[in-house]
Amino acid sequence: MSHSMLAQYAADPELSIGRHHPEPAASTRNAFQRDRDRIIHSTAFRRLEYKTQVFVNHEGDLFRTRLTHSLEVAQLARGIARTLNLHEDLTEAIALAHDLGHTPFGHAGQDALNECMRDFGGFEHNLQSLRVVDQLELRYADFDGLNLTFEVREGILKHCSIKNAKKLGDVGFRFIEKKQPSLEAQLTNYADEIAYNNHDIDDGLRSGLITIEQLASVELFALNLDIVRNKYPKLEHRRLIHETIRRMINTLVVDLCEQSTKNIQEQEPKSIDHIRNLPQLINFSNKIAKQNLELKQFLRHNLYHHYKVNRMSAKASRIVTELFECFIENTGLLPTEFQTYAKIDKALAVADYIAGMTDRFAIREHRRLFAVDENL
Ligand code: MG
Repeated sequence: MSHSMLAQYAADPELSIGRHHPEPAASTRNAFQRDRDRIIHSTAFRRLEYKTQVFVNHEGDLFRTRLTHSLEVAQLARGIARTLNLHEDLTEAIALAHDLGHTPFGHAGQDALNECMRDFGGFEHNLQSLRVVDQLELRYADFDGLNLTFEVREGILKHCSIKNAKKLGDVGFRFIEKKQPSLEAQLTNYADEIAYNNHDIDDGLRSGLITIEQLASVELFALNLDIVRNKYPKLEHRRLIHETIRRMINTLVVDLCEQSTKNIQEQEPKSIDHIRNLPQLINFSNKIAKQNLELKQFLRHNLYHHYKVNRMSAKASRIVTELFECFIENTGLLPTEFQTYAKIDKALAVADYIAGMTDRFAIREHRRLFAVDENL
């Protein structure tokens, strides 16, 4: 993308607030591209392949994992950034890193770990994503973490409690001062939501946990389904679903771009700093926001709380909780590097170890610790 196309309020890698440890510029990549590359080469990124959101990894090869989810978010975010003349590379880096801190087993794992950590400051997966890139990746000689630019770190931290924000410094201030992040960060957040709502419908239909008939009560789905049925009356099931979902995604993306363009024109932002002091400018129109909310509520009631998903979540929660209790009781069971850190902060070391696990690793680790006839 030619830089002359960028809006004056877009993020600019050359004007970045910078890295904690100053480094000379790279000769072939801008600072955000370099951040993206560091994220792709990280250990936590590779683990995304075996972490899930709704469906557990062994349930089938066609379901989204956090890795394919992150790629879909990056694809959507880049498209939206390009349309709005914002910095694509920044959105890509944020998108690829946004889920690095997720525990195994999606939200069930996160809720269980948060409950375990209740007396030790709690556990926020979003904050953990920042912790992964700031501290936990051990690859470079001169610093812990990936030493990413402020703009990428600001985008990764989507939400944060005031208590944690105060401890964080730089990227925490906006939560205390109630300011906005860059437009690139704002739009990547929406790309995340558009991606998971739509792929959860796709995966939900594929799994048979939800049906097209049920979804007919959801306006955004029904409207687009009608368009496809009228155009292709004899279309077979799989293609019908895909043609409907691609139109839903398109409806959401186009609306987001149009409404946000209007907001930007009204506010006339002059710079990225100005953006940080304005209200949130990336938004759906009221009409589409309502449809999107209805879709989310549908998924919560019918998919995320489906009894079969509840059963998996209950198992996931038990595995995470038992692992936590087991390690807290005896840190001698932790791998050596975590034992060292456990001497400084026991609960945090255990939480870091568990949060880093993939679904299948957590299942195996649980078996290794609790099944007497299992080889260590
Ligand atoms: Mg996500």
